Amino acid sequence: MKRRGGPGVLNALAWLGLALLTASFLVLTLQPPRQIPRGAMQQRVREPFAVVVIDPGHGGADSGAMAGNILEKDLTLDIAHRLEQRLASEGVATVMTRVGDSYVALAERAALANRANDAVFISIHVNDGSRALATGVETYFAAQQNTPATRLASWLPFLQKVSQQAPNVQSQSLAGFIQQALVTQTHATNRGTKAEQFYVLANVRHPAVLVETGFLTNKDEADKLCDANYREQIAQAISSGVLKYREALRGQRAIEGGSE
Ligand SMILES: [Zn+2]
Repeated sequence: MKRRGGPGVLNALAWLGLALLTASFLVLTLQPPRQIPRGAMQQRVREPFAVVVIDPGHGGADSGAMAGNILEKDLTLDIAHRLEQRLASEGVATVMTRVGDSYVALAERAALANRANDAVFISIHVNDGSRALATGVETYFAAQQNTPATRLASWLPFLQKVSQQAPNVQSQSLAGFIQQALVTQTHATNRGTKAEQFYVLANVRHPAVLVETGFLTNKDEADKLCDANYREQIAQAISSGVLKYREALRGQRAIEGGSE
């Protein structure tokens, strides 16, 4: 047995439904577009990396390069602090391998970086050359990184071949973005990106680069490095290189359909 409400009731319900539909459509279309807070957006998308480990070269008894009373360890720490602030203002988390004038062994620096998950590692240095004319900026990456996984692989001959054939393209890519930004920002001579098995590059499991920000042995460059504005420019360039690298990884992940 069917129950009927009668044509009048059905009509009234249909009109009410139509009115509600129209009203909700108007409410949705007339609302101004909502701004999604930047932080909220970033939390929802899984970032290519969660933290930048900043490694100010040398420290304590190890002064690094010297020109009179200008010490590499002081310049690298200053640039590192500036980079830390730049990245913080972009909402990027950072960890420093040293925060003051203290000696930290290379193994400790690498171990600290390896304890972090989803990190990138940036070591900051100032060059010294055998020729006083040597000048410019260069960024290093390790062609082979001895991650804990590849150390295990070295016991297993069938895995060894694979690990040896996998140069760290991400480190090379990060080095490229930082070098490009440095040259654009400072107009220093472009010495390019180079592969070198520096301890802190070869023994860090994350994308890792070492930036040589200029030559203390070159009078002009030493003068520039002593200028706080120039050091700020270097920090800005490294920060911008890191962000561009992150953009590139995001784009890559979008093409691959996400990494989830
Ligand atoms: Zn150094």
